[in-house]
Amino acid sequence: MAEYDYDLFVVGAGSGGVRAARVAGELGARVAVAEMDRLGGTCVNLGCIPKKLFVYGSHFSYDFRDARGYGWTAKPEFDWATLRASKDREIARLNVIYAGLLERAGVELIKGRARLLDPHTLEAGGKKRTARRILVSTGGLPIMPEIPGGELALTSNAVFELVALPQRAMVVGAGYIALELGSVLNALGVEVTLVHRGEEILRGFDKDLRCHLHAELELKGMRILLKTRVTSLEKKGSSFVARLDNGERLETDFPMFAIGRTPNTDGLGLDELGVELGPRGGIVVDENFTSSIPSIHAVGDVIDHVQLTPVAVAEGMHFAHHFYGDGAHRIDYAAIPTAVFCQPELATVGLTEEEAWHRCQAVRVYKSVFTPLKLTLSEREEHTIVKLVVDASDDRVVGCHMAGHGAAEVVQGLAIAMKAGATKAQFDATIGIHPTSAEEFVTLR
Ligand code: FAD
Ligand code: NDP
Repeated sequence: MAEYDYDLFVVGAGSGGVRAARVAGELGARVAVAEMDRLGGTCVNLGCIPKKLFVYGSHFSYDFRDARGYGWTAKPEFDWATLRASKDREIARLNVIYAGLLERAGVELIKGRARLLDPHTLEAGGKKRTARRILVSTGGLPIMPEIPGGELALTSNAVFELVALPQRAMVVGAGYIALELGSVLNALGVEVTLVHRGEEILRGFDKDLRCHLHAELELKGMRILLKTRVTSLEKKGSSFVARLDNGERLETDFPMFAIGRTPNTDGLGLDELGVELGPRGGIVVDENFTSSIPSIHAVGDVIDHVQLTPVAVAEGMHFAHHFYGDGAHRIDYAAIPTAVFCQPELATVGLTEEEAWHRCQAVRVYKSVFTPLKLTLSEREEHTIVKLVVDASDDRVVGCHMAGHGAAEVVQGLAIAMKAGATKAQFDATIGIHPTSAEEFVTLR
C-alpha cells in the first residue's frame, strides 16, 4: 500500500494550483486538489476575465461616439443586466472547462475548504487525507481600510456582482484595480471620483506615462484627487458619506477600495505548523517553491511576490516539472510585461526611465505623443504615448512603455524583442507596419 493517499495535494484551484495539479497529473503523479469556491480562482471568477469582459463592454460607449465621425448614426442603449449575464455565462463555461482539464489529467477534485494538520496531512471535504507533498496556492484577498466605518468598504468583488449601476462611485487607490474598474464605471456613465494618497497615480510605472494617463482619464471625465485620504466612512440611507482629509464630505453610492491584496494564509493551519511567513503573511519559499517545511510548497499570490496570473501559472509549471518531471522548466522574473487595462490602456516591459538612470551609466530616451489615426475622424479626444528607454553604453532597449489603444497587444511583442536583447539600432532597422500606432516604436529618433 502507498505510504500516502496522494503524491501531491494542492490547496486552491486558481491559476497556479490548477496548472501545477494538471502538469503533475500528466507527469504521472497521484494528485488531488481542494477548492472551496469556483474553479479557476480569482483570475477566472473575480479578476482578469470578468474585468476584461467589462472593459470591452464599457469601451463601446467610446466606440459609438467614434463611429459618428465615420458616418454612422445609432442611438446606443446600454443594459447592465445583459452585460452581467453574458459575463456570468462565459465564466460558467470556463468553470466547466477547468473541471475537464483536471479530470483529463487524472486529478481528483475535492470540494470544500482545506486545512493543514501536519506536514503530510490535511482535512478537506470532511475527511483527513495524506500526501507526500502539499502545495498551497490559495491566492490573495483584498485589503480592507483601517478607518472608522471601514467595514462598509466595498472591493473589486462587488463590481462583478452589481445588480444595477450606481450613479456615483468613489474609488480609493490608484493602482491596477482602481484604474481598471474606475475606467469601466466611468465609461458606463457613473460619476467616478478617484481618491489617491500619493502624488501621482500608478506608483512604480514610468513618470511620463503616469502623467499622460492622469490627463487622459480626466479628459474622459474622471475626477482625480491626489494627496488625499479617506478618514471615515458612514452609511446615509442607501448611500454613503466619506470624509476626506482635505475637508471634503464626499457622498457616494459605491465606495470601492482597491488598496492592494494580501496573501490568503489565514485559517490554513500554517502558523501551528511553523511555516515561515513574510512580513505581509506570504509563505516564504525557495527557488523551487519549497517553504521552511520540506513537504509544504507554495506558488502564486500566496507567496507575495508578483501578483499576476501568468506568473502564478509559470510558478505552478516550474513546481510540477521540478518535482515530477525533468526540471526543465525555468522561470525568468526579469522584464515581466504587464498591462493596466484602464481606458486608454497602459502596457510596459522593463525599466522605467527613473530606474534606468539608477542602473545604467548613461541612458537615452525616445518618446512620442500623438493622436491615433482612427481618432482623427472621431468626435473624441484621446492621445497615445510611446516611449523607449535605452542603455546608452550598449544600445540595448531596456524599457518599452505605451499608453493608448492596443498597448497591451503591442507591448507583448516588444517584450520578446527585449528578452532577445534587441538594441535600438535593431528597432530602427525593423520596417514598420503602416499605418499603425505600433510603428512608432521603430521610427523613434
Ligand atoms: P487564485 O487565482 O486567487 O486562486 C486561489 C484559489 O484558492 C481560489 O479559488 C480560492 O477559492 C482557493 N482557496 C483559498 N483558500 C482555500 C482553502 N483553504 N481550501 C480550498 N481552496 C481555497 N492578473 C493578470 O495577470 N492580468 C489581469 O488582467 C488581472 N486582473 C485582475 C483583476 C482583478 C480585479 C484582480 C483581483 C486580480 C487580477 N489579476 C490579474 C491578478 C490575478 O487574478 C492573480 O494574480 C491570480 O489569480 C493568482 O493566482 P493564484 O493561483 O495565486 O490564486
Ligand atoms: P496595487 O498595488 O496595484 O495598487 C494599490 C493602490 O492602493 C496604490 O495606489 C496604493 O498607493 C494604494 N494604497 C495602498 N495602501 C493604501 C492605504 N492604506 N490607503 C490608501 N491607499 C492605499 O493593488 P490593486 O489592489 O490595484 O491590485 C492588486 C494586485 O493585483 C496588483 O498589484 C496586480 O499585481 C494584480 N492585478 C493585476 C492586473 C493586471 O495585470 N492588469 C489587474 C488587477 C490586479 P501607493 O502607490 O501610495 O502605495
